[in-house]
Amino acid sequence: MSDTSIYINGRRYYLPLNPKIVICYDGMDPSYLADAVIRGISPRLSVMAEHGFYASAHSAMPSFTNPNNVSIVCGAPPSVHGVSGNYWYDRDTGQEVMMTDAGPLRAPTILAGLAGAGVKVAAVTAKDKLRKALAVGLAGEGLTGIAFSAEKAAGATQAEHGISGDEAQAGHPVPDQYSPELSLFVLDAGLRLLRSGRAEVLYLSLSDFVQHAHAPGAPESDAFIRAVDARVGALLDAGATVGIVADHGMTDLSLADGRPNILYLGDRLDARFGAGATRVICPITDPFVRHHGALGGFVRVHILGDLDRDAVRAFLGRLPGVELALLREEMCRRFDQPMEREGDIAVIAGKGVALGTHDGAHALGDLAGARLRSHGSLAERDVPFLVSEPLDAAYQRKAATQQLHNYDIFDFVLNGTRREGIAP
Ligand SMILES: [Zn+2]
Repeated sequence: MSDTSIYINGRRYYLPLNPKIVICYDGMDPSYLADAVIRGISPRLSVMAEHGFYASAHSAMPSFTNPNNVSIVCGAPPSVHGVSGNYWYDRDTGQEVMMTDAGPLRAPTILAGLAGAGVKVAAVTAKDKLRKALAVGLAGEGLTGIAFSAEKAAGATQAEHGISGDEAQAGHPVPDQYSPELSLFVLDAGLRLLRSGRAEVLYLSLSDFVQHAHAPGAPESDAFIRAVDARVGALLDAGATVGIVADHGMTDLSLADGRPNILYLGDRLDARFGAGATRVICPITDPFVRHHGALGGFVRVHILGDLDRDAVRAFLGRLPGVELALLREEMCRRFDQPMEREGDIAVIAGKGVALGTHDGAHALGDLAGARLRSHGSLAERDVPFLVSEPLDAAYQRKAATQQLHNYDIFDFVLNGTRREGIAP
């Protein structure tokens, strides 16, 4: 590896001198890490925080999985790459579109840039829904990188994923998609790719299954964080620099009696402005909804009828449970969103409130009596930002003087912890 660098989305990234790994610890609210460190159940993460670097950073908004994973691998917010939800309403066609393929992605990724510069790069995700966006320019015909999901590891092919199913699976059973093991499979696969020399830069993206279901300190949460901690330790012992961020935090959105605390905006808007005059889109919607019923703290409202936007915005902004109701332009300006994918009005919930469409339209039965824990609002924007090695002076300054985002992690891991012998 040499002292050369690449530019991606306006930022410079040095090619690595040692293996560099970024982990997106999905749904890792800072409260889990604080709890684990205080009680001493995550020794390797504790050492990273104490002897490397730890800060509380912001996620991109909305605090959902896809926009943040894409922001992290692009090193840039949604206004740059165009992915602002898992799901959105295409105004031009009137279609509601799922972001399960790479179509909406309009910026290059750091992963693709490094692979193009000759670095061995791999991305492993828990869920397959993310894999295609992360694989753009990285894995597939004529490309040299690796990108596969734990969920569909068995079906991986050299042609599409840069690795065979046998090698991706390495003899391990593919875990259930609703299990903690799905994330552990990702970390184990990353360790194998690192040890075998198949990859020197890795992006490992976990699932938030455990955090959706269990609060900090619950036995299931403890077991998961211990298992992740041990695997992070193995990656460090193999010589890698490791950076860890989350895509979003996680908040309990239930009432004291355990029922979910839902404000059905579609019902409120229909009652005030007439049925069918507006459409509420929940951008958290994805094919993986069992644990949140497509309920989170952020929705987009599209005006279909002949209504005054300001009147609708003012109505929404006055509803208790709504933290912010913003016109499209204001949402894009304040939270770096792509204009063409924003609703007429963006609505951000207050802490502890879920925003829904219509009573009966959400699969609450799937929660099976568990408390609703979810994300999407400003209350889940704070995420941990960990680097396993001390930062150089320039990056310490940067961290002290700027608002850190989770999508700064590749910058810090590749540029802020460079080893001896290379001038900055
Ligand atoms: Zn997530």
